[in-house]
Amino acid sequence: MPIATVNPATGETLRTFRPHGPDEVEERIAAADRAFRHHRTTGFDERAALLRRAADLLEQDVPDIARTVTTEMGKPLAAARAEAAKCVRAMRWYAANAEALLADEEPADGDVRDSGAAVARVRYRPLGPVLAVMPWNFPLWQVVRFAAPALMAGNTGLLKHASNVPQTALYLEDLFRRAGYPEGVFQTLLTGSDAVEGVLRDPRVAAATLTGSEGAGRSVAAVAGDEVKKTVLELGGSDPYLVLPSADIEGAAATAVTARTQNNGQSCIAAKRFIVHADVYDDFVERFTARMAALRVGDPMDESTDVGPLASERGRADLEELVEDAVERGAEARCGGRRPEGLDRGWYYEPTVLTGVTPEMRIHREEAFGPVAAVYRAGDLDEALEIANDSPFGLSSNVWTRDESEIERCARDLEAGGVYVNGMTASHPALPFGGVKRSGYGRELSGHGIKEFCNATTVWRA
Ligand code: NDP
Repeated sequence: MPIATVNPATGETLRTFRPHGPDEVEERIAAADRAFRHHRTTGFDERAALLRRAADLLEQDVPDIARTVTTEMGKPLAAARAEAAKCVRAMRWYAANAEALLADEEPADGDVRDSGAAVARVRYRPLGPVLAVMPWNFPLWQVVRFAAPALMAGNTGLLKHASNVPQTALYLEDLFRRAGYPEGVFQTLLTGSDAVEGVLRDPRVAAATLTGSEGAGRSVAAVAGDEVKKTVLELGGSDPYLVLPSADIEGAAATAVTARTQNNGQSCIAAKRFIVHADVYDDFVERFTARMAALRVGDPMDESTDVGPLASERGRADLEELVEDAVERGAEARCGGRRPEGLDRGWYYEPTVLTGVTPEMRIHREEAFGPVAAVYRAGDLDEALEIANDSPFGLSSNVWTRDESEIERCARDLEAGGVYVNGMTASHPALPFGGVKRSGYGRELSGHGIKEFCNATTVWRA
């Protein structure tokens, strides 16, 4: 895949970049290693001051970097601005909280004297240079949610960003440099995915995190496993969205539209499978479909646009194949199911509601990475949970109900890394984020996330 900015709204190649060659990659790994030796010894105050400075700079840059993001991957401009602002908040959150999150811990029962210790505690020390293989869908956020905790913990970062967001990748390197981070603390490797294995096998690289497809995750995890290196994987999702009879149906339908179409439908935590109780099925489907059909599809630079183009031609083709397969096997497109008229140049696709989805259809098991909702009818909560859990993925989940026992049942039984009740899944710096099953392992954000790339060291004194 060439490293290039190709505008998804027009299909036009705006800029191409020469990838870093082996010597440049080597220089950057060496710099990350050198920088780690110093950065690991710095105090939290110093690290927090740097991260706050990066946050301040990013805040000033929001209008410009948002335009770059929209140009490179097609999300509506307002969404790009919101993404950048979210990064600013997360940086400030980690600057404020990392020291407390990584404070030395006493043993849980407070008494380890029978081990012969006068004192014993756990100290969280950084691991070293961490390779971050990141996707294009939230090209700022995915990186910052790795970098903010990793750098606060004392690690250094090597970013291998997706090949279609090179300007955003270079912006991020420049942001940390302008904030005053010493050379090598955070760098971008401008390479294709073929360079990842070599970087990961380098003994100076301690660990890796990847957000992206299952295939990419599997390759990185296989190499890391071979090298016995820690990984965190945040892969795809096909999150269920349950609507039960006691729910606020209007609220559920309105939120369902945002949950499905945010980021032009290209979000791992987008709700993708809508599992609706038979008693409220017709009501929900009618409201949901009307709202989906009313969305404005168009130029993502236009402030009135709700849904922009998909990020790549391949991405749209994959989505079209999933819809075609479902319709061939008996699903009905209540709205959408095709490219919009009059938008021939970009990679647009109409918001689509598919009803009558069954387990034989590919969309039941595969991630629909675009504005396409698969709707199921369930006779009761047992059946709804069965459909929800009949997926290789387990990233997050959503349920709409006012019934306390149903809420408890879902919190216990939905196979996912999150259960969001009467709302939609959204990440927050204070809450762990990640999945089970084929959605990956490990957690990002919160205290769980910052500790993933730490060496939990037992310090024992007689
Ligand atoms: P990829 O998983 O291919 O890309 C994500 C990142 O992984 C990119 O930096 C990519 O580099 C890199 N990568 C790809 N293959 C390998 C590999 N074998 N070894 C090491 N690194 C690799 O996602 P796509 O953009 O191709 O999207 C395909 C599907 O993945 C989507 O339809 C969606 O289902 C899922 N996806 C999920 C995301 C999420 O947030 N969980 C985000 C993006 C995609 P390069 O760009 O150079 O190929």
